[in-house]
Amino acid sequence: MRGSSHRPTIVLAGGGHANLFSLRRAAELARRGFDVVLVDPSEHLHYSGMATGVVSGAHAPSENRIGIRRLVERGGGRFVGGRVAEVLYRERALVLEDGRVVPYDAVSFCLGSEACGGGDAVPVKPVANLEGVRNRLLSPGSGAARVLLVGGGAAGCEVAVNVARLMRDSGSGGEITVVEAGPDLLPTSPQRARRIMLERLRAGGVGVILGQKASLRPGAAVLEDGTRLEADLILAATGVAPPQVFARSGLATGDDGSLWVNRHLQNPNDERIFGGGDAVAYRGTRLPRFGVFAVHQGPVLYRNLQAVLRDEPLAPYEPQRRYLYILDLGDATGLAIYGPLTLRGRLPLRLKHKIDKSFVREYG
Ligand SMILES: Cc1cc2nc3c(=O)[nH]c(=O)nc-3n(C[C@H](O)[C@H](O)[C@H](O)COP(=O)(O)OP(=O)(O)OC[C@H]3O[C@@H](n4cnc5c(N)ncnc54)[C@H](O)[C@@H]3O)c2cc1C
Repeated sequence: MRGSSHRPTIVLAGGGHANLFSLRRAAELARRGFDVVLVDPSEHLHYSGMATGVVSGAHAPSENRIGIRRLVERGGGRFVGGRVAEVLYRERALVLEDGRVVPYDAVSFCLGSEACGGGDAVPVKPVANLEGVRNRLLSPGSGAARVLLVGGGAAGCEVAVNVARLMRDSGSGGEITVVEAGPDLLPTSPQRARRIMLERLRAGGVGVILGQKASLRPGAAVLEDGTRLEADLILAATGVAPPQVFARSGLATGDDGSLWVNRHLQNPNDERIFGGGDAVAYRGTRLPRFGVFAVHQGPVLYRNLQAVLRDEPLAPYEPQRRYLYILDLGDATGLAIYGPLTLRGRLPLRLKHKIDKSFVREYG
C-alpha cells in the first residue's frame, strides 16, 4: 500500500485527540512534501467532553462527532479504514487486522484506551458506546430499565447522573445504581468534589453502593458480600487499559502495555515512532487519562513527525502539572476541578460547553 512517489509517508495510526492537530494540517504536510495516511476503524472520532451530554440529550449525537476521514482527505491525505494489529518496526510497517500492510516513514500512534468490561457489560469507553446506551434506554421495549454502573470515578459518575436525567426526562421510570469498590467516589479528586458528587447522585435518585467490589455476570453483578444485583443494562467504568498491540509487537511499553515514549513523545525502539494520548506511557509512567493531555501533545507530535524526517531537532513535551476538568452534573450545573480547587454551578457548565463546542467547531 506504499505510494509510488518518493515522498516520505507520515502515518497517523488512530485519529484520537492527540493526532487531531496533525490531521487538521494534512494539507500543510502535503505542501511540505509528505504523504499523509490515517488508519482508523472509524470515520469519526467521538469527542469525549460532550459524550455524556449526548446521553442526557443536552447535545445531539452528531454534535460530538469529528469527521476524521474528511479531515485527512480534505488535506489531500488518504484514509485507510482498519485496525492496527501489529507494528513491524524493523520494516517500518503496520499490519492491520485483516492482513493489509501500511508502510510508514514516520508514525504517530494515538489509539486511545478501552474500559475493561466483563459479562455483557457495556464499557463507557470508547465513548461512542454512549450513543448506543441512549438509544437502548429510549427504545420502545426498554420500559423501566434497571441500570447498574460499576466504577465511581469521574467518567462513571458523570455517565450515571446523565443516565438518571435521561430516564427522568423520558419518564421511563427506570432506576440506576452506582457500585464503587473504594470507600469513596472520585478517588483522585478533592474531598469537596467527592461530597458534591455524592449529594448530586443521591438528589438525582441514583443509588450508591461504596466499598463493594462487583463481579460482573450476564445480567447481574455479584458484590463481595454476596448480594446479587440484577440489571437490564450494566455499564462498566472500572478503569481503562491501552490496546495490547505495542507489547505484542515487541516495542518498549509501560507496565500496562502502553507505548513507552520519551520527552519527545518518541519510542526508543525506533526514532520514527511517536505516540500520544491514553495509549502511551510518558517516560514509562501513566499520565492522567484525560483528553486535555492528548490535546496538548498534538502540536509536539505534528512538529516531531516532520523534524525526524528532516533531521531537525525534536521539540520536547512538558505535561501540564494542573489541569481543569469539568463534569456535567446533568442538572444544568457543572463541577469544575482544578488541582485542589472545586467549583459547582451553572458557570462551570457554561464554560465547559463553550470550550467543548469551540473545540469541535475547530475540527468541523
Ligand atoms: C465518559 C467519558 C467522559 C470523558 N470526558 C472527558 C472530558 O470531559 N475531558 C477530558 O479531558 N477527558 C475526558 N475523558 C477522557 C478522554 O476520553 C480520553 O482521555 C481521550 O479520549 C484520550 O484520547 P486519545 O487521543 O488517547 O484516544 P481517543 O480519543 O479515544 O481516540 C482513539 C482513536 O483510535 C482509534 N483506534 C483504536 N484502536 C485502534 C487500532 N487498533 N488501530 C487504529 N485505530 C484505532 C479509535 O477508533 C479512535 O479514533 C472522558 C472519558 C470518558 C470515558
